[in-house]
Amino acid sequence: MRTGDTAADVAVVGAGPIGLAIAWRCAARGLRVMVHDPASGSGASAVAAGMLSPVAEAYFGERQLTELLLASAARWPAFAAELTEATGVEFGYRTEGTLLVGLTGDDLAEARRLWAYQQGLGLPVTPLLPSALRDREPALAPRVRGGALAPTDHQVDPRLLVPALRTAAQRAGAVLVPHPVGRLSELDARVVVVAPVAAPPRSPACPCGR
Ligand SMILES: Cc1cc2nc3c(=O)[nH]c(=O)nc-3n(C[C@H](O)[C@H](O)[C@H](O)COP(=O)(O)OP(=O)(O)OC[C@H]3O[C@@H](n4cnc5c(N)ncnc54)[C@H](O)[C@@H]3O)c2cc1C
Repeated sequence: MRTGDTAADVAVVGAGPIGLAIAWRCAARGLRVMVHDPASGSGASAVAAGMLSPVAEAYFGERQLTELLLASAARWPAFAAELTEATGVEFGYRTEGTLLVGLTGDDLAEARRLWAYQQGLGLPVTPLLPSALRDREPALAPRVRGGALAPTDHQVDPRLLVPALRTAAQRAGAVLVPHPVGRLSELDARVVVVAPVAAPPRSPACPCGR
């Protein structure tokens, strides 16, 4: 890879959670890594809920996806421990489980169908009475009709995760380049990261006001 005059083994475009995790792992293995992003953490992670919830998101007809999500979530405790050890940064990793609630009778009927399907797959989902829900979460709205607990579904705060991963990647030796990438091209069998072409300057406004 080549960026301007600087060569690297790996060029990562985008310093969101995925790009930074890749950069961290590659740099930790001794590769020279450059991560390009003018606004790290401003992508989908800025608005994501951070649910690590393969059980709650196991839907009809998505068996293979569910298996992938379960395998991915199973790696989170070790990944989180490693990230904490590498950075000491708090990123809001929570393991107390996830409450699933139905606001209306129709919500609850639909949710119960899904919980039965999830239980049929052997996944841990425990229906709870409204009183038991409120024991766990007193701030629940009074009109919540019922719900369930998915005890193995976890959560992370994506807005804290990105800076933690940035720290881990940089400590491992990755270099952050605060510029956007316009395109990738190839030169002498190497990939070249190319900055976007600057937009042409706008012509001065017409004196007539248009
Ligand atoms: C509303 C919402 C809720 C979500 N809730 C969840 C959830 O509960 N659980 C869950 O697991 N996932 C959730 N997601 C999905 C999750 O946010 C994404 O899977 C995750 O953010 C993807 O990470 P990423 O690093 O690939 O991309 P992003 O987080 O989108 O980061 C992309 C980065 O690339 C940079 N970039 C873009 N173009 C360029 C360029 N040309 N040059 C250089 N850099 C560039 C951006 O500045 C940004 O920093 C949610 C997403 C949304 C939108």
